[in-house]
Amino acid sequence: MSASTPSSRTPVGGPHLAVIGGGQLARMMAQAAVALGVPVRLLAEGPQVSAAQVVPDTTVGDYRDLETLRTVAAGCAAVTFDHEHVPTGHLHALAAEGHPCRPGPEALVHAQDKGVMRARLDELGVPSPRHRLVENAEEAVRFAESIDGLPIVLKTTRGGYDGKGVWVVASAGDCADAFAAAGSTGVEVLAEERVDFRRELSALVARSPSGHLAAYPVVESVQRDGICWEVTAPAPDLDADLAVEAQRIAMRVAAELDVTGILAVEMFETREGRVLVNELAMRPHNTGHWSMDGAVTSQFENHLRAVLDLPLGSPACREPWTVMVNILGGEHGELSEDLYAGYPHVLARDPRLRVHLYGKEVKPGRKVGHVTAYGDDLEEVRERARHAAAWFRGDLGMESE
Ligand code: ADP
Repeated sequence: MSASTPSSRTPVGGPHLAVIGGGQLARMMAQAAVALGVPVRLLAEGPQVSAAQVVPDTTVGDYRDLETLRTVAAGCAAVTFDHEHVPTGHLHALAAEGHPCRPGPEALVHAQDKGVMRARLDELGVPSPRHRLVENAEEAVRFAESIDGLPIVLKTTRGGYDGKGVWVVASAGDCADAFAAAGSTGVEVLAEERVDFRRELSALVARSPSGHLAAYPVVESVQRDGICWEVTAPAPDLDADLAVEAQRIAMRVAAELDVTGILAVEMFETREGRVLVNELAMRPHNTGHWSMDGAVTSQFENHLRAVLDLPLGSPACREPWTVMVNILGGEHGELSEDLYAGYPHVLARDPRLRVHLYGKEVKPGRKVGHVTAYGDDLEEVRERARHAAAWFRGDLGMESE
């Protein structure tokens, strides 16, 4: 058999799509691309990362290297992303050479840098927690004194994820410790009021280059240790006006920042019944995974449709309630290492459950998959999803929920 590159074997017309980054988001984009018949060309961090396992046309390389990005983008209709870390200078270069980047660098910088994001949202009059860029612990304390006092939240403007780079600080000493930890990363620090929120909400929209928008129902997300744990769609008991307000903010931000693809706007619902924007993500988002099974069109399909400037699909719910629970690597028992061993029980117990595993090595606290349950009765749906995730984690019986 003669050798051939994977891409030269692809016998289809239509556009190719370049996806930068090989995590589970790229893997689930690839899943949607299979259904649409759109070939994906992947730039992955390694040959065995989550998306590289399922995309034959994979280049292993460094997304910080412009030449590598050029090679992957060549011949593709658009370039999109599994993560937000590609240097914007490289994206400007690609765009100038005729490779549409979606989202583009002017939009993406707002998802890369929380300081830039806060400044822009202030300009737009979008409600956020009170905040200030601070250079040292003393300034952080002064900021706290200018609002309601400590505790406040300190966060690095760049490079944080899943709660890394976010500290709740209750004393001058805590501020100094946070700066010591942040200082090693060499980035700016943003001080924010600590919002005593009722809960966290997320508003997702898909936006295409021609300006078409599809707004998903606003969902409730529960975080543990800064990591998304559980999502309920739609957010239970959400005031109808507040839901519209949250969607309106997400659509406005998408349009003003010229976002293409999925925009996730993470928000706090305050006890006074307002929404404050926490942060923006410009890619399919964990709070939208429920849509794979619970919406007419998944966030991954709408992301692809949007970046290819195709008509968007309906974001409406299929069932009254959908609950998604992440499977995080557990600390207990053999299931926590061998997720497949969880299937006989989980699938037999609940034939309506949907399971998504990412092909990732199980490490404690790492996102390795998610489960989704849907139906008419929220309590029952929640119990089914929680049970399955706990079983996969290997710590069933240890949790009280
Ligand atoms: P990351 O980039 O790591 O996702 P976030 O800014 O979203 O960081 O913060 C992670 C979590 O920390 C949030 O989901 C929320 O639970 C909590 N948090 C962040 N900022 C605040 C704030 N100003 N007030 C209260 N909690 C916050």
